[in-house]
Amino acid sequence: MEKLVDSEKSKELRSLIEGSERIVLTCHVRPDGDAIGSTLGLWHLLRTLGKYATVIVPDKPPVNLSFLPGFKEIGVYTCHAEFCEKTVAAADLIICCDFNTPSRQDSLAPVIQNAPCRKVLIDHHQEPSAFADLMISYPDMSSTCELCFRVIAGMGFYGEVDLACATCLLTGIITDTRNFSVNCKHPDLYEILMRLLEKGVDKEKIVKESMNTRSYWSLKLEAYAISERMKVFNAHRCALITLDRDDLEKYHYERGDTEGLVNRPLEIKGMVYSIFMREDPDCIKVSARSCDNFPVSEICKDLFNGGGHIQAAGGEFHGTLSECRDLLVNSLDKYDKYLKQNKQ
Ligand code: 5GP
Ligand code: MN
Repeated sequence: MEKLVDSEKSKELRSLIEGSERIVLTCHVRPDGDAIGSTLGLWHLLRTLGKYATVIVPDKPPVNLSFLPGFKEIGVYTCHAEFCEKTVAAADLIICCDFNTPSRQDSLAPVIQNAPCRKVLIDHHQEPSAFADLMISYPDMSSTCELCFRVIAGMGFYGEVDLACATCLLTGIITDTRNFSVNCKHPDLYEILMRLLEKGVDKEKIVKESMNTRSYWSLKLEAYAISERMKVFNAHRCALITLDRDDLEKYHYERGDTEGLVNRPLEIKGMVYSIFMREDPDCIKVSARSCDNFPVSEICKDLFNGGGHIQAAGGEFHGTLSECRDLLVNSLDKYDKYLKQNKQ
């Protein structure tokens, strides 16, 4: 396997861990499989190493990840603020997983940033801000979980990876690569898969639970969104889905119900990018996906105060859903230059 992670960084992390007793693991708001997989995966490892570790997340993780070992032990800031604040204040070390800037933690951000202890970043998003003492940032990795596996191996702790840890790490790899269908070109990824399978991981169960299990209403909402709320802009190779509050109420929307929806329009032959806008109580949540290396991260950065990866990005818009929609539709021309057919 290629040594992609700087061995000095792994060594430094190992000595930080060895010098700490109380370690907090944390991730971004609206955590996904990679955010929960990486924090919980490291949590299992640290417990095996005899550390007093706690996972603290900004808000509730989605129920489709509840099969992960240790899920019930996660501290949720919006539910148990006092416990989370006390735990963070008492920590000797904080490991930040799967986000590149403090603002991705919403209201948990000041709690983490004001903690006096040292901080480590383990992440695969582009352009991280330098808020941690040790920055382990590799934007080319498929997932933070892949990076965690490499860092764990680099620290010499592969032998301490148990079934629970391996299950969490593989979940992040599977969800971020959509079960090895995107960002999965590097052959090493399959060696990592092999190593995790050797630990006894049930890959079929992970795929079924984390990707292919949903509620009745979630499935109905997806069908409705595609049939009634999708607009295709053929000239721009772009599809847009919008769901307003009434749509969400009608289909008994619960957090996580639209996970994966933004990918569906990319199944249309010739479609290059897809944008989904959802009217949340506090903002319009924007999600974007693409193929052919079309940089949806640029659109999210320019228009929606967000960012992410080239082919998977997101952001937030403060205003009405129709303003958000108009902003995109009126800007589509600007991004035609990234379509391969328009390149010289
Ligand atoms: P999703 O569409 O699954 O919510 O997010 C896909 C990716 O876009 C995330 O992994 C993250 O990199 C990025 N992303 C999503 N929402 C935001 C946001 O509000 N701000 C920033 N900076 N990135 C986001
Ligand atoms: Mn990720």
